[in-house]
This record gives sequence, C-alpha cells and structure tokens, in this order.
Amino acid sequence: MKLHVKDLIVEGKKVIVRVDFNVPHNDDGTIRDDTRIVAALPTIKELVKKGAKVILMSHLGKIKFNKGPEAIAKGKAANDLAPVAECLAKYLGQAVEFVDATRGEKLVSAVDSLKNGEVLLMQNTRYEEGETKNDPELSAIWAGLADAFVMDAFGSAHRAHASTYGIPEILNNEGKPTAIGYLMEKEIVNLARCVSVEPKDRPYIAILGGLKVSDKIKVIESLLLKCDRIIICGAMAYTFFKALGYETGTSPVEDDQVEYAKKCYKSGKIVLPVDNVVADEFEDAKVVKIVDCDNLPVHMMGMDIGPKTRVLFANEIAKAHTVFWNGPAGVFEQERFQAGTIAICQAIADNDHCFSVVGGGDSAAAVNQLGFTSKFSHISTGGGASLQIIENDGHLPGVDIISEAK
Ligand code: ADP
Ligand code: MG
Repeated sequence: MKLHVKDLIVEGKKVIVRVDFNVPHNDDGTIRDDTRIVAALPTIKELVKKGAKVILMSHLGKIKFNKGPEAIAKGKAANDLAPVAECLAKYLGQAVEFVDATRGEKLVSAVDSLKNGEVLLMQNTRYEEGETKNDPELSAIWAGLADAFVMDAFGSAHRAHASTYGIPEILNNEGKPTAIGYLMEKEIVNLARCVSVEPKDRPYIAILGGLKVSDKIKVIESLLLKCDRIIICGAMAYTFFKALGYETGTSPVEDDQVEYAKKCYKSGKIVLPVDNVVADEFEDAKVVKIVDCDNLPVHMMGMDIGPKTRVLFANEIAKAHTVFWNGPAGVFEQERFQAGTIAICQAIADNDHCFSVVGGGDSAAAVNQLGFTSKFSHISTGGGASLQIIENDGHLPGVDIISEAK
C-alpha cells in the first residue's frame, strides 16, 4: 500500500502537491470545465488543515518548443495557469498565491515566505522545456523546494516527467516522504474494477472515441484481452473505416494505423458505427447530413455517430455489467453533433446494473455539460492515464515511484 497524504505529519513543512489542473480552457484563459480543480480539493484541504506550506504544481496544455520563439510565446500565453489560481481560491475559500515563475529567486522567495496553511500555485510546469524530458537538473531544482511530495495528479501519472517522477525520485533518495493524495486513491480504487473484471461483472464493454487517435489506438490491443466488446466512435472510427475500405472523405484518419486497425478488427470484438452525421466543414458547417458508413461523401467529414448507430450502441451498453468509456462520440462542443455522446450517456444512465467509468478531460466535461454526472459510478479525471492503468494492469510510473507505507 502506498503512503497516503492522511498519514503525513507535515506541520510547518513545505509540501509539493502535483495536481492535475490541466483543465479544458480557451486561449483567453476561460475555464470550460473545472472538474479537475474540484477533484483536487480534498488533498489540498487536508494539507492546509495539517498546517503544511502547500506548493501546488501542474501542467496546462502543450507548448511546442521546437517551433520557434513565436510559437513558444503563443503557447505560454494560451496556457497560463493564473486563471486556475483564481478559480481554486474561490473553492478553497482562502487566498492562493500565484507565482508567475517556474524557477529562480521569485519562486524561492515566494516559497520561503509561505506561512503554515498557506497555498501557492506555481506557473505551468510545461513553461520549462525540461518538464516533459524529466530533466534531472529541473527535477533537482523543484525537489529542493520541498520537505515532502504528494502525488494527486492522476491525469498525469502515466507520464514520467520532472514534476510527476523526477521530484519524488529525488525525495525518496533523500529519505523524505512521498505519498498519494485522496483523488489518486479514489482513481486507483475505481479503475482497479476495470483492470481485472470477474465473470460476474461481465460483459465488460469499452467505448473509445474522441480525437487523440494515435494515443488511444495502441491501447486497443491490450483492451481486447480484457474486454468482451470495444465500441469505437469519435475520430478513431474513420481509421477503422479506411481499414475496411470505406471512403472517409475529409474525416481525420491515421494512415499509419490502418493496418493495425485491420488486425484489431479481426478479433471480432470491435463494434463500429453503421452511420454518421457528416458536415462540409468543421466550424460553421453549411451542409450537415446523415449517411451510412459505406457512403461517406468525398468532400465531407464525419462529426458524430448517426441515429442507427445510437440504437446499436445503446443495445450493446444495455447488456454490460462494466463499462469503461474514454472519448466523446462526436464533436459534442457543437450542439448539432451532440446526439451521439448524449445517446451513450443515456444508455449508461438507463443501465442500472452496470459499473460505469468515464475518463478523459473532454469526456468528463461532456458528461457534466450534458447533465449526466450523477449517473456514472466514477468520473475519472484522467484520459490517457485511465487507459494506461488498464493497459498496464494497475501500474503507472507516477504512482509506482511513490513510497510504500511502512
Ligand atoms: P478526452 O479528453 O476525453 O480524452 P480527446 O481529447 O481524445 O478526449 O477528444 C475529445 C475531442 O474529440 C472533442 O473535442 C471532440 O470534439 C473531438 N471529436 C470527437 N469526435 C470527433 C470527430 N468525429 N471528428 C473530430 N473531432 C472529434
Ligand atoms: Mg482531451
């Protein structure tokens, strides 16, 4: 069992908490869904109550360091964590000091002037190029700020980065405590039920959608060993359509995954859409229609699953005793392409004998936005992490590195 934040004695100690504040947001900083901020509250409150000096760290979005100074500046401006500090302060009911620095005098002096029970949020960890490379020098700088570390960023625990792996690795070597937080505990316990599923909890159905096909498609092979059926929707469906020889028009397709998709399809466990809602353009579409999947027009793109597919998927979901869902069925941010995602939510809501987990920033946002939050057994704050913990039989680098309780 991992050491837990509730077991730490940290009055007056500086504690880094790696949280997952990678919230869906607009470039102007407006937060579209604050689920992940709310989910981090129990751990932060516990440390405040214990009189710790709380140093929060998180990444937000991606910054492309290889695309020149202009792209870097743009990436930083679009992924400034300052608005998150404001939102968090409202929920915590106390001030959250935002430090617009990721190293140097400004950060060190802000940390040094923290009083017991005060909370500080450091600027986006990804402002540092070394973060995603688990750069040892950067990890040492950050680890040097703290007496203890709490990992509560489930959504980032599948990545061995400086803030998720480098810091606890150093603190472990120095004999300082590293622990998991309440959110991490909750995620691990619930996802364990999707890792190894007993016969009485079957059929076990996975639903994969969304946009990050190249990340998610690799998981299918290992999911095939665990699940009874895998429903494919979202952008990923089009790579499968291509594998079956269908026209995919201007839909997003991963050409280098087509052979792999063919191989997965041979398992006989994959359920694909039979019809689609297609549009002439992604934004401000002028033409929107419903077509069968073998009849997609050359100049149009798939935006959602069609009405026949909604029924097909709902019938599959009705049989399930365990459902794991990652990735919306369509471009749910636009009202006309919401029906598929709503149909999946409704089918899960209607199935009261099923243990249901949904994971992923956008998927969780969709469930909340569409009003189905209370209908799920667990809403995971992690997309890639929830997929990977299933794939790796309960293991994630950011969890494995945390100390065991004595
Ligand atoms: P999550 O954050 O839940 O892991 P992703 O980030 O992979 O999910 O994907 C979410 C995005 O996928 C949403 O913004 C949605 O608009 C988009 N999406 C879903 N279906 C399609 C599609 N057919 N074409 C393009 N984008 C899609
Ligand atoms: Mg996403």
